[in-house]
Amino acid sequence: MLRAGLIRRLGTGLYTWLPMGLRTLKKVEAIVREEMNRAGALEVVMPIIHPAELWQESGRWQKYGADLLRLKDRHQRDYCVAPTHEEVITDIARREIKSYRQLPVNFYQIQTKFRDEIRPRFGVMRAREFVMKDAYSFHMDEAGLAQGYGIMFHTYTRIFTRMGLTFRCVQADSGAIGGKTSHEFQVLAESGEDAIAFSDADDYAANLELAVAAAPAQARAVGVESLRKVATPGVRTMAELARFLKIEPARCLKTLIVEGEDNTLVALALRGDHDLNALKAQKLPGVASPLRMAGADRIMALAGSEPGSIGPVGWAHRLYADHSALILADFVCGANEKDAHFTGVNWERDVKGAVAADLRNVVAGDPSPSGKGTLKIVRGIEVGHIFQLGQLYSEALNATVLDEGGHSVTPYMGCYGIGVTRIVAAAIEQNHDERGIIWPEPIAPFQVVLVALSSQKSDRVREVSDRLYDEFRADGIEVLFDDRDARAGVKFADAELLGIPHRVVVGERGVESGRLEYRGRRDTASQDFVLNDALAFIRSRLR
Ligand code: ATP
Ligand code: MG
Repeated sequence: MLRAGLIRRLGTGLYTWLPMGLRTLKKVEAIVREEMNRAGALEVVMPIIHPAELWQESGRWQKYGADLLRLKDRHQRDYCVAPTHEEVITDIARREIKSYRQLPVNFYQIQTKFRDEIRPRFGVMRAREFVMKDAYSFHMDEAGLAQGYGIMFHTYTRIFTRMGLTFRCVQADSGAIGGKTSHEFQVLAESGEDAIAFSDADDYAANLELAVAAAPAQARAVGVESLRKVATPGVRTMAELARFLKIEPARCLKTLIVEGEDNTLVALALRGDHDLNALKAQKLPGVASPLRMAGADRIMALAGSEPGSIGPVGWAHRLYADHSALILADFVCGANEKDAHFTGVNWERDVKGAVAADLRNVVAGDPSPSGKGTLKIVRGIEVGHIFQLGQLYSEALNATVLDEGGHSVTPYMGCYGIGVTRIVAAAIEQNHDERGIIWPEPIAPFQVVLVALSSQKSDRVREVSDRLYDEFRADGIEVLFDDRDARAGVKFADAELLGIPHRVVVGERGVESGRLEYRGRRDTASQDFVLNDALAFIRSRLR
């Protein structure tokens, strides 16, 4: 985006949109706006600076953490720069919506947000200041919310389809925003930050954070070995352990110690080849949320061992074991002392009181939790996220409406976000080659690039290219006219970098022969067309 001149960086996570980038951004916005309007949502614009009192009322002034940028005005009053607008829209609702007759309703805006992200990266993909479309719906009851949520689900599907993006809708965690049911819309791309697990046999799809690792169908194997302590000098990692003992990591147990509630520690045991899923772990009873690994000194004080040597044999505190670790027999684990491991370990006999839990990230090939097929994993970029909030915010801010019987009820809310600026970056991540961007047509900054060769020297080239430019534009086609005094190679390279879908070249030879050169951005070779039929030819190429 920097090379193509779409954006410029001002500071960490802060970007200026230059004319070429802004054209695409405006197209993305236009599609979002059209589809939101089609769905019956009403556009509003809310302030970017919010008084602290409102966020104190919802409890998020404390809860939101360091992502919330706080500031003071000249009277030393506290404010924040809005990362999201649940509080403000609920404040509007509690003042304006009094009766069931006014519901359901859905308000949206397309507006700048600020989140002081820990690690802003990949340009506008994860910026601090970015543009979001955020929408908030209000309903009389849960059934109404489910219906409104369904409408947004379809609207989002239409939006990303219209943009020409390949995407997937997945079950998601609701994170800091809160609520129960939630889906993310993920643009599929190798470089994506998120991993998505989906079944190859039905429509189960979930963010890896949330994807359920089904408990294995097979029963635990019968242990035959006795517990033995073996010397493992210098062995630090799981890979080293497996190599040293010449066994699979899947036969070893990985024990992680995390902070529990009330100053306790909790042990989490997983198969050596599996990865801990922090989100699943921090939802378990007794485990501190957000998940925090226990410090070495804490573990030493409580278990008399350093973290790298810890194992569950003799662990006297809360212990969770992943389902697939619990079917192991005769396994290997840390012996709670340096340079030693236990082999031939068995549950119940050697380790008592382990509670079964889903602790791990799913891996490709796991059975789908839907019961059909196996899981595959692809990478994605989250461009949209929809939530059923329920009464979380309406309750906190005391928003009520009168129902048909004149009773005061607390409305149900949904909220629906789209990363407008992130979509531009995501579209490029999904559609590019080594020469540059390949815009999906609906969001390309221009449809056609008209490249005039040596127009400074040739009157005829200038006449023909000027005429085509006017003709195309008069027909409503968006044309970028490259009439710079530059070499052909430079112009072609820039056209490819910019990713304009259709390229027409006007040169001396073409003008003379009455045939011009055309090339689509994804084409491997150019083709000729008759100059006199230029408009009809280009029209036939446009979607
Ligand atoms: P992420 O998990 O990527 O941090 P989020 O879950 O915090 O995002 P939401 O609160 O769901 O984000 O916001 C709605 C949408 O806004 C997201 O789906 C994403 O497309 C976009 N978005 C969120 N944070 C950023 C950011 N820092 N820069 C650009 N776009 C963002
Ligand atoms: Mg999200």
